[in-house]
Amino acid sequence: MQRFVGFVYLEIRMHCHQGQPISIEITVEPHGGIRGRCSRCQQPAPGYDRLPQRRWLFVPLWGIPAYFCYAPRRVQCAEHGVVVEHIPWSDGKRPVTCAMMGFLARWARRLSWRETARAFQTSWEAVYRSVEWFVEWGLSHRELSGIESIGVDEIHWGHGLKADNFLTVIYQIDSGCRRLLWVGKRRSQATLRRGFKVLGPEVVKGLRFVCSDMWKPYLQVIAAQAGQALHVLDRFHIVGHLNRAVDEVRRAESTRLRAKSKESAQRLKHLRWTLLRRGSRVRGRAREKLKALLASKLATARAWELKESFAHFWQYKSVIWAGAFLHGWCFWAMRSRLEPMKKVARMLRSHEPLILNWFRAKGEISSGAVEGLNNKIRVVTRRSYGFRTYKAMEIALYHNLGRLPEPQSTHKFC
Ligand SMILES: [Zn+2]
Repeated sequence: MQRFVGFVYLEIRMHCHQGQPISIEITVEPHGGIRGRCSRCQQPAPGYDRLPQRRWLFVPLWGIPAYFCYAPRRVQCAEHGVVVEHIPWSDGKRPVTCAMMGFLARWARRLSWRETARAFQTSWEAVYRSVEWFVEWGLSHRELSGIESIGVDEIHWGHGLKADNFLTVIYQIDSGCRRLLWVGKRRSQATLRRGFKVLGPEVVKGLRFVCSDMWKPYLQVIAAQAGQALHVLDRFHIVGHLNRAVDEVRRAESTRLRAKSKESAQRLKHLRWTLLRRGSRVRGRAREKLKALLASKLATARAWELKESFAHFWQYKSVIWAGAFLHGWCFWAMRSRLEPMKKVARMLRSHEPLILNWFRAKGEISSGAVEGLNNKIRVVTRRSYGFRTYKAMEIALYHNLGRLPEPQSTHKFC
């Protein structure tokens, strides 16, 4: 068991009910010859009086819930007056020992919070408070220097499209360290400004690359606050816009054909995923169906071809040639008479310099980093249906993706 300087274990008693052990109580006493310490400055101070006994939940022993029992002293500190002494296994008013909070928090990364609570015979609330303590400790001890590239993104959360259903996330996407730096509610300018404020002006001014989607509030804040960094529009977002446009064309056409005859609508059936996949990865029967579609002169076929041809864009090495390709592609798309494709072309045109920055930053930032972190966030937010509040989910995100430093503990079971 952990040893604390200045304290001794007096006795360990097991409480039973009808022959079954229900709890273990570990009584702790102050060491006779060592003075208590002031809880504010941690300096030894003369004793004043003692408070009633308190209990702290400790790591279970042999599967039985265990408690520390101790009557805290009050000490008279020369500087801070009469205060409660410093108790090394406790943090503030929490009724759980630091060892147990660390223990629960580590398990809460492997199991859901509810399962963690059940496995260690405690409450969901106790798990929540433990993770909260763990995350607060990590956030206040983390190192933010040396951050060169960040990704800014929005995540949809919960049901509906209200402003509160979106989160803004800031990731570090340097090759040596990928982690969640900040998460906040909504996706407005004010949200991102809040995030930058938490990171601090030193971090924001030191950025070399910022990766984001074409979401206007973000573009504005990034331009205003991190103007020195090369701002890159993320490849995976652009591909996402193209895919959505193709799907929109397909759905509209499908409805149109169904109105005419069932038979012609059949040609577009079950093609959704095939159309969203890269052409070279379509095989077998799906390939046959795609070929038939391409020969058909349907709007969906033309949209798909446009999307496919855009993949070539990412192969360029020279910014000038990439720019020329972009012009050509947009010209072609504007003539396609497909409104969703035209919309993408207009969007690409109006963000051309930022899109071309992708080639200027080539090799320096990973295009998959933001996508990968987004997928991980989704895993956590989905598990979050068990989380009762936004706050709980936010804590879980930092806990799982923040790569936070951890408080020292002798109880590292996982
Ligand atoms: Zn003091």
